[in-house]
Amino acid sequence: MSFASLGLSDALVRAVAATGYTTPTPVQLQAIPAVLEGRDLMVAAQTGTGKTAGFSLPILELLFPNGKRPADYKRVPKKVRALVLTPTRELAAQVHDNIRSYATELQLHSACIFGGVGANPQIKALAPGLDILVACPGRLLDLVGQRAVDLSAVEYFVLDEADRMLDMGFIHDVKKVIARLPAKRQNLLFSATFSAEITELTNRLLHNPARIQV
Ligand code: AMP
Repeated sequence: MSFASLGLSDALVRAVAATGYTTPTPVQLQAIPAVLEGRDLMVAAQTGTGKTAGFSLPILELLFPNGKRPADYKRVPKKVRALVLTPTRELAAQVHDNIRSYATELQLHSACIFGGVGANPQIKALAPGLDILVACPGRLLDLVGQRAVDLSAVEYFVLDEADRMLDMGFIHDVKKVIARLPAKRQNLLFSATFSAEITELTNRLLHNPARIQV
């Protein structure tokens, strides 16, 4: 199985090849076609399984069908089309770097925001509107409160490492973020483990999800 046969366009397949991957991992084999079909996803996978590419590549394909921006695309100030929430800034930075490496042939507008650093550069990055925002929940809520970012147009929502979000005490922040999202959207949830609390969140967040376990 190749990345091209999973339904990704040439621009993404070339970028993936440039990173040195030749064969999709099991999570990628299952996740990429399901996301491209518009399904919600519930994925039980650890770090190291290739899950980041598993959600990033199909979201880039949906944002840039056949490697191009849709003709009717309009960049709307402060609005975001895809939101990826991660529990730590290290993970946010790593996910954002991965996404940038797959988007070398796309005119992608993206940013990464987290706490512990000045907010002004982040506010500036959000101002023109973004295709993809990778964020930690606390700083994201701060900036939503300051009206620096508007989540009402999010079409794709990824909750990465949901179990760590819970362990680190971010679940209330995550729920506040979810409350800001529009009703109609595609949701992808990744977690290494599924406790009762994660399952409850999953049931509330996901609609008829494809279930993937690796
Ligand atoms: P992740 O599970 O997303 O944290 O990815 C784990 C590691 O696997 C990262 O260092 C990726 O660069 C690498 N990786 C992701 N997809 C592939 C692939 N299809 N083939 C080889 N390595 C990959």
